[in-house]
Amino acid sequence: MKLVKAASMGFCRGVRAAIEKAETAASSSSPVYVYGDIVHSSAVMDRLRALGIIRIERIEEAEEPGAVIIRAHGIADDERKAFERKGFTIIDATCPVVLHNQKLLREAEGHVIIIGKKGHPEVLALCGARREAAVVSSPEDVRNLSPGSYKAVLQTTFPSPSPILEEAERQGVRIELLNAICPASGERRKALCDIIPSVDAVVVIGSAFSSNTAELLSIAKESGKPSYLVSDADEIPSEIYSFGTVGITAGASAPDSLVDLVVRKLESGSDKPLL
Ligand code: SF4
Repeated sequence: MKLVKAASMGFCRGVRAAIEKAETAASSSSPVYVYGDIVHSSAVMDRLRALGIIRIERIEEAEEPGAVIIRAHGIADDERKAFERKGFTIIDATCPVVLHNQKLLREAEGHVIIIGKKGHPEVLALCGARREAAVVSSPEDVRNLSPGSYKAVLQTTFPSPSPILEEAERQGVRIELLNAICPASGERRKALCDIIPSVDAVVVIGSAFSSNTAELLSIAKESGKPSYLVSDADEIPSEIYSFGTVGITAGASAPDSLVDLVVRKLESGSDKPLL
């Protein structure tokens, strides 16, 4: 089997920097907490747990104040302030792209909306920068907006705002986008599109909870080529070995070690465990 790797895949700069901050913080003598999953990767979270870092979803879950690592997706302003008030040391691993988008939201004049997936950690952090901003996830949500003009901030990994913008135009709602998707996401999407014509099937490495990984899988599936999401080397489907050429990509939160393992297993040409 021939493997064709996308020119851009795997950890982005924001994810790599967040994990480095967390690993450095682990040596602190006080308790170290991480607010939610630092990135969408169970392997990364297992490693942080092994380093003694405690995962919490809410401030009340921390038994005593210590250092709290803010995940790459960011945190709402009021939650950040709550940690500060209670004496926690903030280790901010929020991706700079997300911090910039939160700033755009705080400073935008007039009516503001957030285009993103409801409930996604990054969207929760964006909402926390501008509480009155409605979240628009689909063209249907546009119909709930009052007629008028809106400034919009886009979730960094949102698939494409085009269907939402087209529906807005039909409804007479004017939306001005203040940002674009994150360049790292865009590069990974383009690199995948570049290899798709030359492969028989595609393997996307990463977590089903990761928006940018889900988008890579969606692009691969839309091409009509058999496409598989693999979050662990054990999940490689046996039918993949029947294809002549397989394309490989990985989401921005897929660790290098996982990518290497999946690639080595595919290169071995067999679904038997690696020795
Ligand atoms: S995908 Fe973009 S926004 Fe998300 S962590 Fe990476 S660099 Fe930051």
